[in-house]
Amino acid sequence: MIRYIEVKSRTRSEFIDITDEVRELVRKANVNNGVCHLFVLHTTAGITVNEGADPAVQRDMITFLNKLVPTDHYFTHSEGNSDAHIKSSMVGTSQTLLIEGGKPVLGTWQSVYFCEFDGPRQRRIAVKITADE
Ligand code: ZN
Repeated sequence: MIRYIEVKSRTRSEFIDITDEVRELVRKANVNNGVCHLFVLHTTAGITVNEGADPAVQRDMITFLNKLVPTDHYFTHSEGNSDAHIKSSMVGTSQTLLIEGGKPVLGTWQSVYFCEFDGPRQRRIAVKITADE
């Protein structure tokens, strides 16, 4: 069974904290110990695990990614969003979290972020939760 997390981005580039949604899906799945796979179903977005305490970290990551891959660089892709495709592959489109005691295993400062690189858009993340045997 595949579950989904729906995300609505509001700007072209933003990191959206989906940790609560992931926790909720794991809780509903009623899996005590297992694995939670997250897969972004888009080519201009990504998913990452990083610091959730200071929003400056996400701002700095977006600023630095924009500096590494500027939108005004000469690209041939006619849609005009090659920077977003490149950032998607740099960040990656999947994450795997371990589940223990019915909860995703995350470090004190870790949160799960959906990474929008070509918003605003409606987005979907496929989630597969499997239990240990
Ligand atoms: Zn494109």
